Amino acid sequence: MKTTLIVLSAARGARWSISGHGSVKTIASHGKFLTTIFSQVETLNTVQERKASETEAMQEKITRDITADYDVIIIGTGPAGLQAAIHAARRKVSVLVLGRPGDSSLFKAHIENYCCVPGVKTGEELIHTGIEQARNLGADFLEEDVVSTAALADHTYQVVTESDNAYKAYALIIATGVSRKGLGLKGEKQLIGRGISYCIDCDANFFRDAAVAVAGDGSAAVHGAITLNRIAREVTLIAGELKISPSLERQLQETSVSVLTNTGIREIKGTDRLERIVLKDGTELALDGLFIEKGAKGAMELAAFLGVQLDPEKFTYIITDQEQATNIQGVFAAGDICGRPFQMAKAVGEGCIAGMSASSYVLKQRAAERK
Ligand SMILES: Cc1cc2nc3c(=O)[nH]c(=O)nc-3n(C[C@H](O)[C@H](O)[C@H](O)COP(=O)(O)OP(=O)(O)OC[C@H]3O[C@@H](n4cnc5c(N)ncnc54)[C@H](O)[C@@H]3O)c2cc1C
Repeated sequence: MKTTLIVLSAARGARWSISGHGSVKTIASHGKFLTTIFSQVETLNTVQERKASETEAMQEKITRDITADYDVIIIGTGPAGLQAAIHAARRKVSVLVLGRPGDSSLFKAHIENYCCVPGVKTGEELIHTGIEQARNLGADFLEEDVVSTAALADHTYQVVTESDNAYKAYALIIATGVSRKGLGLKGEKQLIGRGISYCIDCDANFFRDAAVAVAGDGSAAVHGAITLNRIAREVTLIAGELKISPSLERQLQETSVSVLTNTGIREIKGTDRLERIVLKDGTELALDGLFIEKGAKGAMELAAFLGVQLDPEKFTYIITDQEQATNIQGVFAAGDICGRPFQMAKAVGEGCIAGMSASSYVLKQRAAERK
């Protein structure tokens, strides 16, 4: 076990990195960028006020014991991540694949338009086959969500999972699909940036000493509620059934977060700002803030903290070149997260390229280190 210092800005080659590694200015620029994506409403003064507390919050995360080292870490167990794992593992680099297979878009699909696979196959069957193939070639799997990413000072990358374990690799492949979902309730969209947010990492500090709730039952929601518990006055987690690791559940129990399970939000109330929500059983909660965090931590947060470039119009997709390389050296992306069409064939094709590119990158890094 060793402790590693993480470089906060993590932006080798990042376009919006204003200054050098670890500076307050760089952190603030990332924070502003993230907020632009998710809440779109923020004044300059508030950004400045936030700088100091953001730095503090980030500092808490800067040292970690690394649980294990790999050559390539792949975030996502859908067709893009699995194909990347197959191609990387065949090149004899060590591979760790993180994520929950059941959360892949493919899992519930029925596929009849994939070349060389006749008839209709269930996505579940295809995913299990892909995992088996990658495993047989030597890839390791861990069925956990990633909650943070960071670049380390030695030009490697670290990911932290929901169980608070940290893994390190020369190369990262982001293959997280597209999953950001709202609640679909009346008033939800109008109140984004006015009490409603989809990004706890971006907006938590707006809610110092406030009453907030987090809606969601996956790792992102629980991790977010734990973060907010250090900032807000009272935090309520509103969940259906919690789908998290025992270790994350223990972390949650150690906080003062009020956990309401087997419920959901029926109504959102407020005109200029969020005022209250109504739960499915009719209970009303007066709130200053509501964070909607469904499923795993969104790829956009994971990518943005590394300085990965997103499409300039909507900040929805990761931009890659023909090698599936992002603007950050050693970080690759594949599948739905790189844009339309959302099809398995495209995800697999990009996964193949990303796996090959990442493994070539690792082999070059190793050769350079030997010189
Ligand atoms: C109902 C439905 C029907 C479809 N039908 C077809 C069809 O007929 N033909 C076709 O070609 N395509 C179809 N698709 C589309 C196809 O499923 C997707 O294009 C494909 O699954 C994309 O693959 P992906 O690997 O990029 O992402 P996904 O398959 O979505 O996989 C993303 C993976 O990333 C993981 N992940 C996300 N965030 C994190 C995190 N923070 N930490 C760790 N892991 C994370 C998820 O758990 C998941 O394992 C369908 C999709 C749906 C929803």
